Amino acid sequence: MRIHIIHNPKAGRLLGNIGEDLALALLHHGHSVSYYATKGSMNAAEEAKRQCDLGQVDLLLAIGGDGTLNEVVNGIMMSENKLPLAPFAGGTSNDFCSYLKIPTNPEDYAEFLTNKAQARPIDIGLVGDRYFINVVAAGMLSEVAHKTGAQLKSILGSFAYYVEGLKEIVSSDLYKEIEIESQDYHYKGKYVVFLVSNSHTIGGFKNLAPDASINDGYLNALLIKKAPFRNLLEIATQLDSGDHVDNKYVDYFTTKNLCISTNSHMDVDGEELDYKKSNVQAISKAICCYY
Ligand SMILES: [Mg+2]
Repeated sequence: MRIHIIHNPKAGRLLGNIGEDLALALLHHGHSVSYYATKGSMNAAEEAKRQCDLGQVDLLLAIGGDGTLNEVVNGIMMSENKLPLAPFAGGTSNDFCSYLKIPTNPEDYAEFLTNKAQARPIDIGLVGDRYFINVVAAGMLSEVAHKTGAQLKSILGSFAYYVEGLKEIVSSDLYKEIEIESQDYHYKGKYVVFLVSNSHTIGGFKNLAPDASINDGYLNALLIKKAPFRNLLEIATQLDSGDHVDNKYVDYFTTKNLCISTNSHMDVDGEELDYKKSNVQAISKAICCYY
């Protein structure tokens, strides 16, 4: 195959020269490989769109975290000629690759892409005019992620979120206001976290949206409402198993379309958005992804 690598060399974990290692492994498996290193915000999206428009390769291999994947997906969606995506985990937060169980070693990955992976149609979400591949989040978790310094985030990985989270819990503005409206759901009131997810893996938790699937045409919405502190702690202990979805302070449902309005900011695939009010919709089988 003709593979074009879009690599965010500034993404997360210290990996040595992962772009080069991956390119060499793919060459050894008989592919032709071209390589592009991104140079700042939205550059991965521009490069992805440019490659789709040119149509000279068979797939776009994105190396980076969820934020880089988000950009590549936005670039693909902006083109009439939607090249398939092949994601490779190279960031601090790699929820989507983790969900797909993509091999993390370059040699294993080259073998996987060559002999096992297939291009399958997957759903994409749209919030306002921004596409997302994994999740839109609003509320405390989202704010915590942005208050944590980028460097600390890189060193501590997702643990940094929890340290900041504990600080956040004792501060007074834990609860934000939200209004959520969809065809058969309405909520207006205080909340801790609201997210709309494509996959079931979010913030390193593998069961946050336990039965979510990326090709059922639906997004999974999860709301953690204002609750007494002991109930919030209980919910926190249930996040790993997925039992939180049955907690009385949690609403969990599937949707194709809803509207959110909140006084907290939102983030999309881990990147901050400045939306306060927005529509969120599922776009069924919008692109193809190798997994
Ligand atoms: Mg789904």
